[in-house]
Amino acid sequence: MSSNQQQTVSVYTVIKCVNGDYETERPFQDGDYVLKVVGTCPKDGRNLYIVGIYAVVPEEKKGS
Ligand SMILES: [Zn+2]
Repeated sequence: MSSNQQQTVSVYTVIKCVNGDYETERPFQDGDYVLKVVGTCPKDGRNLYIVGIYAVVPEEKKGS
């Protein structure tokens, strides 16, 4: 498999506490999906789950 694509898209996973008191994000990991429980809240010990996954695309050069 050759990869000629020069995409440097960074994908991030947004994680939130079910109680809504804690939110964080980290680089996307294989197997991540929305609503997946990924840990426990450091504040109240409740479940942390994935609320969103987004990609950051590098700015493209545009004329003028
Ligand atoms: Zn919490």
